[in-house]
Formats: sequence, structure tokens, C-alpha cells
Amino acid sequence: MLNKKVAIVTGGTRGIGLEIVRTFKKNQAEVVLFGSKEESVMKTVSLLKEEGIDVLGYYPNLNDYEEIEKKVKEIYERYGHIDILVNNAGISANKKIEDTSIDEFNSIIDLNVKAIFNMTKAVVPYMKKEKSGVILNTSSMVSIYGQPSGVGYPASKFAVNGITKSLARELASDNIRVNAVAPGITNTDMVAKLPKEMIDPLIKSIPLGRIGEAKDIANAFLFLASDMASYITGVILSVDGAARS
Ligand code: NAD
Repeated sequence: MLNKKVAIVTGGTRGIGLEIVRTFKKNQAEVVLFGSKEESVMKTVSLLKEEGIDVLGYYPNLNDYEEIEKKVKEIYERYGHIDILVNNAGISANKKIEDTSIDEFNSIIDLNVKAIFNMTKAVVPYMKKEKSGVILNTSSMVSIYGQPSGVGYPASKFAVNGITKSLARELASDNIRVNAVAPGITNTDMVAKLPKEMIDPLIKSIPLGRIGEAKDIANAFLFLASDMASYITGVILSVDGAARS
């Protein structure tokens, strides 16, 4: 479905991002994954190699625009085009507002919002040259319903939706589609970190009766990245088993 397309996936070292990398590769894309640290990037690149999947991996600071610009240019020069950008890296929060420091709030916004701006700003000129491209952002179910604590996280994901809907309109005349996937609770390290008393009732309330798997989410990314979604832009696609909390 992605024959020879070149994709950059941020937060590609584990969880949802790693499954997006696998799914895109199985569909014949060239994939470059970004992670936060050299060690985790190298570990994932060799894990994938053992699975017979070859990818390049880098660890630029997503909050340093100049570093991102340089890395994106390098990728463009290597392949001659960049067709898909997946802004997936993210962190969550669950503390009450009184227990959340300003630095903690800022670090969520830095990664979940500003990094998307940086990556997208760096990639868009190359997509405009080709008059073609797909930008996909990882939002969340909390971007629709909020959540009862950890306000920085839903704040960041509401912003992701705003970026998605606005850039879809701004970039449509250049044939660049911009969409987001809003996963429900998904079985990754991010959820493993949350207290069991918080997660178990949420899983029980999901109408489809189970937690989402990274593969469920990656398949939605595949569809939106492919030409099958050629007339879809500005959409926040919920992939959450009809969860509503
Ligand atoms: P995860 O913790 O398993 O993976 C997070 C990824 O982000 C990793 O690859 C990590 O390297 C990267 N990352 C973290 N901090 C970074 C930093 N400072 N700089 C660069 N990269 C960094 O989480 P996940 O569950 O796979 O989450 C992926 C995305 O899905 C996030 O945007 C998250 O908000 C979203 N999401 C997850 C769930 C869920 O239930 N797991 C639900 C809704 C949305």
C-alpha cells in the first residue's frame, strides 16, 4: 500500500510508533525512525533487523529546530523525496494540577505540541516541491473527552487536533493531506506506567471489551498514509473500541 514511499516516524522505538514502522515496512515503504536516545534507537534498529526489517534510526532533539532541519535535509538528500511524516512521539501525565510542576507541564507541551510544529515545518517544503505528501499526528481519545487528572496531556492533544485541522486546510492546495489518529487505551509502556486502579475500570468500560493493541492503531495509520485515503484530510480518526471516558 505504500510502495517505495519514504516515511519518517517519530517515537518509533517502541509501542505504537514501532508497530507503525513494522506495518509501513511490510507495505513496502522506506522508513526512518526517530527516538529520544541513541541506546533505544540502536536497540530497536537491531531488533527490527533480526525480524528481517531494515530501517534507519536517528535521535535528534525534537525541540531543536536547527537539528531537525539538518536531519530532515539529510534524509531528503538520501532518498530524493519525503512522502509521509508521522508525528507520534509523546508523553502523558496523570497528576492532579496541584502536584504538577510548571516544568512538567512545559515538557508535555514541548514534546506533544512544539515537536510536531518543528518536524512539520522542516518537512513541508520538501512535500511542497513534490506537490504531494501525508502528515499524520498521534492524538488521543483524551483530545475529545479530556481526562480527570493530568491536564497537560489532554491540553496537548487538543492542540494536536487544532494543528491537524488547520494544516489540512493550509496545505490542501499543495496536495498534502493532514490527519490524526486518536487511539483509546492501548497496550504500550505508556499505559503500563499508569496505576492499575486507574486503567482497569477504563478497560472494563470499553464497548468492544478489550484494550487496544498497537497493531490496531498502526493499521489506521497505514490506511490514512495510503492512497486509499486520497480524499481524506483534516480528520481525527478515533480508534478506541468506542471508549467514551
Ligand atoms: P510509548 O511510551 O511506548 O512510546 C513513546 C515514544 O515516544 C517512544 O518511541 C519514545 O522514544 C518517544 N519519546 C518519548 N520522549 C521523547 C522525547 N523527549 N523525544 C523524542 N521522542 C520521545 O508510548 P505509546 O503508547 O506508543 O505512545 C505513542 C503515542 O500515542 C503518543 O503520542 C501518545 O500520546 C499516543 N497515545 C497513546 C495511548 C496509549 O494508551 N498508549 C493512547 C492515546 C494516544
